[in-house]
Amino acid sequence: MPSLHLLGTGAAVSAPHRTTTMLAVSNDQSLFLIDCGGDVVQRIMAAGIDPTLFTGMLVTHEHADHVSGFPLFMEKIWLTGRHTPVPVYGPPQGIDQARRCFETFDVSSWRNFPDIEWHQGVGLTVDDKHWRITTDWVEHSVPAVGMRIECKQTGTIVAFSGDTGPTESVVRLATGADILVHEATGSGPGHSTVNEAADVAQKAGVNRLILVHLPPTLDDEALERARTVFPNIEWGEELGTYPLEKNHLPCR
Ligand SMILES: [Zn+2]
Ligand SMILES: [Zn+2]
Repeated sequence: MPSLHLLGTGAAVSAPHRTTTMLAVSNDQSLFLIDCGGDVVQRIMAAGIDPTLFTGMLVTHEHADHVSGFPLFMEKIWLTGRHTPVPVYGPPQGIDQARRCFETFDVSSWRNFPDIEWHQGVGLTVDDKHWRITTDWVEHSVPAVGMRIECKQTGTIVAFSGDTGPTESVVRLATGADILVHEATGSGPGHSTVNEAADVAQKAGVNRLILVHLPPTLDDEALERARTVFPNIEWGEELGTYPLEKNHLPCR
């Protein structure tokens, strides 16, 4: 069953059991990753996914909690037996940061180390056998993107806000989506509150809203208040798996 995985659900600093926000979508032939601000291969394994299914990664922006694990990801994916090129997508600033992080390491003596295919750009970003992924700029302190992911096998749509204040571009990306994964770091420029995320979900007409990029303490009363704006809202579950099917029931 194609699935969405929340490999991490925390803000840069969050509760002890939450690492930085990293997502994946998978089916039995593909694993596509979004962001790598931590040890993403460990999180893949902890979620029970085979890392050798990896087919690509998208980096949303240049901040350390989204891209600093890239060299470690490359080392580990190589050690799991990956020798074919590794495609990495994202806005130019995110790609530049991933490249700079990676170039601090000398891998010239590592046999059969995979090449990296850098794909810079915003808009229609991935259109392969399994996924169609469209990105657009969002409202953050540095250039950053959100995205709309279509699972070609089931037609299920997942939208992800990335790091952002409430913005019309996420409303557009999420229009009619089955699941919107939206950040809820809290008030402040370039981030969103629970209520603001609920407002975006309501405007976009999504089915289900899952909150990520969570602060150390969760405000359950704010979540209840937000249900008056958008009822089907929940905190993202660390290492949670969400089947990409049209009735979108949690698999556990
Ligand atoms: Zn950020
Ligand atoms: Zn962040």
